[in-house]
Amino acid sequence: MGTLLEIKNIETYYDLIYAIRGASLSVEEGSITAILGNNGAGKTTILRTVMGLIDDQPDKGTIEFAGRRIDGADTEKIVRMGISLVPEGREVFEELTIRENLMMGAYTRRDKKAVTRDLDRVFAYFPILADRTGQWAGTLSGGEQQMLAIGRALMSRPRLLFLDEPSLGLSPLLVKEIFEIIKKINQEGVTILLVEQNAKKALEVSNEALILENGRFVMKGQSGDLMKDENVREFYMGVR
Ligand code: ATP
Repeated sequence: MGTLLEIKNIETYYDLIYAIRGASLSVEEGSITAILGNNGAGKTTILRTVMGLIDDQPDKGTIEFAGRRIDGADTEKIVRMGISLVPEGREVFEELTIRENLMMGAYTRRDKKAVTRDLDRVFAYFPILADRTGQWAGTLSGGEQQMLAIGRALMSRPRLLFLDEPSLGLSPLLVKEIFEIIKKINQEGVTILLVEQNAKKALEVSNEALILENGRFVMKGQSGDLMKDENVREFYMGVR
């Protein structure tokens, strides 16, 4: 189906410290691609760089989405073009209700009828949210907040969804449920770029995966192949 996102040789720094030191990545349309890496490897920074959320724009490299350059573009424009981020730690608006949080995700859109249809689609993925539209988001459990954060990101109708550590802090049962939903969202046509420390789950759900160390990709391949790789098993999956 072709490449949807093409990152070439980007560098991102905070103050004087380089977090990303020349990283290239392509995401195939229709795929689930996973970025694995330890704490501080720079995974979040890659997603934030693409979204235009880092003040100092990358002064090196290029980012193309659906064949158009987006490096240097405003976040709002990037969202309107079709990329949406579910941030690490969910970051739901705690003082707003479930419905209000979801509507915030549709802030770039004007077609209210279509927005209502998408609200129904989110409720179909997450029936638990449909039952409680008036509940304050701050009173939801961690798993429910993760569902809400994914739902909110879907409300901008992304072609490409970024998920930053969706399994963080969730019980094994909920992790399983969240990954099943991620698969379903992908099957319904949304390309996914996933950042995870849970290497096993991430490799199971993804088609392709890359390993990031110290701001550089050190390995990439089909997820099934990486799952069998001895180094990946030892250093990222804790098995031999
Ligand atoms: P984690 O899995 O722990 O979230 P990560 O792979 O997502 O890690 P990043 O959050 O991208 O890693 O951080 C990469 C590096 O950049 C780290 O050394 C981090 O301390 C640093 N860093 C991240 N955000 C900032 C910031 N706002 N200011 C300064 N340094 C930062």
